[in-house]
Amino acid sequence: MTKQTGTTDEMLTAEVVIAGGGPVGLMLASELGLAGVGVVVLEHADRRPTDARAWGLHARTAETLDRRGLLVPLLHPKAPWPKMPFAGMWPLLQLDRIDADHPYLLNVPQTRVEEVLEARARELGVVIAYQHEVVGVRQEADAVTVQVATPDGMRLVRGAYLVGCDGGRSTVRKATGISFEGTDATVGGMLCDCVLPSMGQERRGITRTEVGTVNINPRPNGVVRIVTTEFGRPHPDRDAPVTFDEFRGAVRRILGRDLDIVDPTLMTRFGDATRLASRYRDGRVFLAGDAAHVHFPYGGLGLNLGLQDAANLGWKLAGALRGWAPGELLDTYGTERRPAAEAVLDYSRTQLALLDPHRNVTALRSLFGKLLEFPDVNRYLAELASGASARYDFGDEDAHPLTGSFARNVAVKTSDGGTSLVSLLHSGAGVLLDFTAGVAEVASPWSERVRVVRADCDDAPAAGLLVRPDGYVAWAGSAAPADPRGLQQALARWFGAA
Ligand SMILES: Cc1cc2nc3c(=O)[nH]c(=O)nc-3n(C[C@H](O)[C@H](O)[C@H](O)COP(=O)(O)OP(=O)(O)OC[C@H]3O[C@@H](n4cnc5c(N)ncnc54)[C@H](O)[C@@H]3O)c2cc1C
Repeated sequence: MTKQTGTTDEMLTAEVVIAGGGPVGLMLASELGLAGVGVVVLEHADRRPTDARAWGLHARTAETLDRRGLLVPLLHPKAPWPKMPFAGMWPLLQLDRIDADHPYLLNVPQTRVEEVLEARARELGVVIAYQHEVVGVRQEADAVTVQVATPDGMRLVRGAYLVGCDGGRSTVRKATGISFEGTDATVGGMLCDCVLPSMGQERRGITRTEVGTVNINPRPNGVVRIVTTEFGRPHPDRDAPVTFDEFRGAVRRILGRDLDIVDPTLMTRFGDATRLASRYRDGRVFLAGDAAHVHFPYGGLGLNLGLQDAANLGWKLAGALRGWAPGELLDTYGTERRPAAEAVLDYSRTQLALLDPHRNVTALRSLFGKLLEFPDVNRYLAELASGASARYDFGDEDAHPLTGSFARNVAVKTSDGGTSLVSLLHSGAGVLLDFTAGVAEVASPWSERVRVVRADCDDAPAAGLLVRPDGYVAWAGSAAPADPRGLQQALARWFGAA
């Protein structure tokens, strides 16, 4: 495949233009780069941020990154956390009991995730243009032209598709007229990364009082992150800088005492505005990440949701550009990812509701705490929190139960030796694993889009498994030999005509 990225006298061109070089834009860029697509990322800032908003990749995100060889650079000995809180309650969610390849919370800063993704995207030939602010979008029948403000003046950038990964206040979303429906902020939150000499005596995690919550978490790098939330006190101006006195004042109101905070390095404010784009696509323009959904950050899901948007969209856009994608493939991005976001927004609202200082909520928390002691309840919530139970509804009631679920890794033996599903997915193509189904020949006309592997496996989940590039099961065969018609339909549905 030849990449198409270049410049004419006045115009920068690429197959896909991505607005926003945050984590979601960079993930999408590396997915497209892997498929040989020419990509330009337009980023308003002059460099990557040095302060991390998010800390924590959940199980499904770790699995997704693993399937591209991007997990290993993020691992370090203190990173995996086997437990995490649910709305600051005890007992903790037991992540080590969930059904996932990586049953833990990976405690890694967003800045490191961005660094790894940017390096991968550049390796794959993606052009990342800093100090390039998207200010306008014009769609034509066969292309999108983006107006960009740069330090050297206005510039036009043109591509076959544009993806708005430009955050919660997305210019792309506004320019395409996609509405952002939901609710305004009702709480005011602030965050401070600092040194806390009294850390040894402080209660870790969330303390809930009659005013709000203070969440104290030491990070592996020695910095302590303190997060305050005050109910019924949304910020009148989300962009106003946080002063040290303001932050200390919030801590005092909530805890009724001061914390001995030293050397604050990052202070910022946030709220609980919860909104979802009414559509994820408008013609040749798509939205991903915070541009498509925002919510209260407790539970640490926004970054995870966005990275998975990118993993879902990348291979579909590549298929459309290479001409093999069936007509409706691009629309499945919205039909699959919008419900995923709806579920996360509801989960986030649940956590916020359970943190509310009202006396009734105290009673509800007491009941919830007892429910969390039931292993099945604990596991259900842990799988929800980590995305481990997330699956897509492909609308085929007769399909094998694995269809639409995320394929767990399996070690396999092929004629070339031992490998694994995770390794086979590194190239970004689909994978057909034929254990005993006897259907490998059926897929040979799709061999440029789907890697067909006859394999032995001690714990094969089915007789045959067709896995999409994003790791989800497109088809599974229970019988041996399996009925090839179901596989042919799945191949045509996800990978186009033979
Ligand atoms: C306090 C806080 C704590 C959080 N903690 C967690 C957590 O623990 N776990 C978690 O999963 N999530 C967390 N999140 C959410 C997470 O940070 C976001 O969901 C994530 O950053 C979204 O990534 P994104 O790439 O979609 O958007 P962003 O990270 O916002 O990136 C958008 C990029 O687009 C650029 N841009 C904007 N407008 C333009 C334009 N017009 N032209 C060009 N470029 C533009 C911006 O400069 C930015 O680089 C937290 C958020 C906050 C506020």
